[in-house]
Amino acid sequence: MYAPNRRDFLRTAGAFALLPALEKSEPDLILHNGNIWTVNARAPRAEAVAISEGRFLAVGSNQDVLAMAAGRARKIDLGGKTVLPGFIDAHSHPAVAGRQHLRQVDCDLRSIAAIQQALRERAAKTPPGEWVLGFKYDDTKTSEGRPLTRGDLDAAVPDHPVQVEHRGGHTAWVNSMALKMAKVDENTPDPPGGKFDHDPATGRLTGHVRENAREPFNKIIPDTFTRDDYREGVKLITKMMSRTGISSVHDAFGTPEDLQGYQDARESGDLRCRIYCLIGYFAIDRMISAGIRTGFGDEWVRVGAMKMVCDGSISERTARLSQPYIGRPNDYGILVADEAELYETARKAHAAGWQLGTHANGDVAIDKTLRVYERLQREMPHRDGRYRLEHCTVISDGLIQRMKALGAIPTPFSTYVYYHGEKMREYGAERLNHMFALRSFLDGGIRPTQASDYPPGPFEPMMALQSSVTRTDSKGNVWGPNQKVTVEEAIRIGTLHGAYASYEEHLKGSIEPGKLADLVVLGQDPFKVDPSALINVPVERTMVGGGWVWEA
Ligand SMILES: [Zn+2]
Repeated sequence: MYAPNRRDFLRTAGAFALLPALEKSEPDLILHNGNIWTVNARAPRAEAVAISEGRFLAVGSNQDVLAMAAGRARKIDLGGKTVLPGFIDAHSHPAVAGRQHLRQVDCDLRSIAAIQQALRERAAKTPPGEWVLGFKYDDTKTSEGRPLTRGDLDAAVPDHPVQVEHRGGHTAWVNSMALKMAKVDENTPDPPGGKFDHDPATGRLTGHVRENAREPFNKIIPDTFTRDDYREGVKLITKMMSRTGISSVHDAFGTPEDLQGYQDARESGDLRCRIYCLIGYFAIDRMISAGIRTGFGDEWVRVGAMKMVCDGSISERTARLSQPYIGRPNDYGILVADEAELYETARKAHAAGWQLGTHANGDVAIDKTLRVYERLQREMPHRDGRYRLEHCTVISDGLIQRMKALGAIPTPFSTYVYYHGEKMREYGAERLNHMFALRSFLDGGIRPTQASDYPPGPFEPMMALQSSVTRTDSKGNVWGPNQKVTVEEAIRIGTLHGAYASYEEHLKGSIEPGKLADLVVLGQDPFKVDPSALINVPVERTMVGGGWVWEA
């Protein structure tokens, strides 16, 4: 039930102690005997919360909050367990990933042989001529120590077109039948912003297609998803995410169909995380002509920024850098859009009231994107633009100063140091001092968020905490130790900063009266465990809007 008067009071009063009886001061639910870290700087610790109609009614000591119990209020003893606000993954791809999990072969396997076997099994159940699609393949994590080839795919699946996407999502591997169907051969020129890899010895296509060179395949892979599939995908992925303590997700590249899928899942009771849906630039005209802009929706499904893309990927080593990749002196990465193009699209959305978000990994791409934003801010100043730099991976002092001046928000990868450590050699130790630069952002007065970019990075918030606090990969190598943050800072980044990035800091991101009752109950206290064991902290329960969406 909606109770606008009471909520408006709570918001404007900014009440932190117990509240006077307005429409309803009686809680539905009380959680007590907890070790609660609120992320509210004015009252950082608490023992108990009272919840009414999906919001925190009171936050305080056991004694004060339990005194509010009356009538039918349920009481839950947390047994001293640690409670944090629900985590906010400020950049990932839940709708697409959910559908991939429904229909495609999960190639997150540790040998090429295992990937071939999984593709072969899927092909046996797929009518000849139809596509066999794989996702989450990672070229640096298979035991053969070499990337997948067209030959591997042909050997496993000769009679179906095959495409296996890298978990980074910017490049893919295709077999011979797929090349033939897409009419791509050894003489096909590389498109702007893309590359068909050739064997340097023979000139033969290797099957590895990068960035815009994926277009010929994207065009012919039929979209067979039904409206139900969109809803089912959302159901599956938000279930997976909620188990790890995520209560809100920013979909970083949504479409109108994805928005419909989120709404359908919400109506059927299958949406377990709140969604802030950034809309891909290619769909922006449809949205603008419908009169929709950033902020439309409610606390469950809301329209986010318009999303554009400037350069390549970190996990696939195609980000556009000012200094070349280590060991490849002529490789600076790929720009996929030029500044004039970005400006034209951004101007249209900015004028229509949209927040902007642009994928910019390398320092060259960040500079270009900032130039576009700075120009727009000069020409059409926004009082509170919150311009988003998606990923914003490789930074410099100069870029930080410009971001601060603009009030820009970075959404750096939170799990890459830990999970993708073996790829960091291609960036080099020195450059890592300026990558995923949480310390530099915080010290520069900027609010970075927690972000997985899933599928490219794992989304577990506990892995994000460990990666950000230790800057150590799973093999024990330390990358960019100067960028370490504290557990407390990493938690604030993963909660309140994510809310700020979606203009929702008045609604969520901390445990305080009037905010949405989104929280996570942990099996251990992350402030007390060894930082290199944070990843093992169990998530026992996740609550969204006063209801448990996950219980171990
Ligand atoms: Zn992304």
